[in-house]
Amino acid sequence: SAGGAANQQVSFFVTGLNEQLQKRSQRLEQLKLALQCGELEAWFQPQVDGASGRILGAEALVRWRHPDEGLISPAEFIPLAEETGLVIELGQQVLEQACRQAVLWRQKPGWEAFKIAVNLSTVQLSDSKLVHQVKAVLEATGLPAEALELEITESAVMDNTQEALVVLNQLADLGVSLSVDDFGTGHSSLAYLKSLPVSKIKIDRAFVKDLPDDLQDKALCQAVISIGAALDLKVLAEGVETQAQADLLMHLGCLSFQGYFYGRPSPAAEFSGGSVGQPG
Ligand code: C2E
Ligand code: MG
Ligand code: MG
Ligand code: MG
Repeated sequence: SAGGAANQQVSFFVTGLNEQLQKRSQRLEQLKLALQCGELEAWFQPQVDGASGRILGAEALVRWRHPDEGLISPAEFIPLAEETGLVIELGQQVLEQACRQAVLWRQKPGWEAFKIAVNLSTVQLSDSKLVHQVKAVLEATGLPAEALELEITESAVMDNTQEALVVLNQLADLGVSLSVDDFGTGHSSLAYLKSLPVSKIKIDRAFVKDLPDDLQDKALCQAVISIGAALDLKVLAEGVETQAQADLLMHLGCLSFQGYFYGRPSPAAEFSGGSVGQPG
């Protein structure tokens, strides 16, 4: 009967839903264990001064070294970590690893000015303990605050404006610098951006990937670079994969770069590079 078919559909749907929920809770348990066992690693991708080619620093990007599944990329577990609050512990671990590593690198001759960038989730931004934790990690590792940059996504700041602004000001007061990640993909109000204690915007890869051919993307990159100049913000282009992209962006006035063209994210031991430069 029609009712029977409908019931079958419903039970099929419920079974599917149950499987999804089971997978999710299994994943969650694995992630909790992973955080206890130290399976989450900070990897590092160079950030480079375009004119000189010298390394300015690196962005820390988390990887999960799963015992059975191998390396898992953040897109696959950051959303779950955010939904469940685990991203607070995860973020803390990445911050610690990144700062500890940066202290070591800054001891190398020529690497004294090395800066480390660490991603902050919206969830961390609304955690009342965040500022204290950042301060504690700087003290414990001995990293000077000015060597740390925290990346917040455009949507993270824009979603939660009033509270976010208080926290961002407290972080800036510690002496760390702040950058807006994935710039251009959110819905920034320029007036609001102007009021934020940020010193850098990162052009999202979406606007870089089809350069140099896509004229609209070229115009958008030009616009972002102009916004940066108007607000006295540094501008870094993400996802640069070719010399032609780097050349065009440099021609448009962008000074700092990150992307496979300069280096893929890698474990600290494999992170290479010559001497560290100052931003041009
Ligand atoms: P993001 O912060 O915008 O990081 C840039 C992403 O672009 C990284 O992906 C990086 O590997 C990738 N990428 C860099 N250069 C290129 C390129 O030339 N071509 C292409 N196709 N991709 C490039 P990844 O490592 O998979 O990270 C994805 C996102 O996960 C990050 O985007 C960030 O939002 C989030 N994430 C990573 N680590 C952390 C973390 O420790 N905490 C938090 N809260 N989020 C993190
Ligand atoms: Mg980032
Ligand atoms: Mg980004
Ligand atoms: Mg991104």
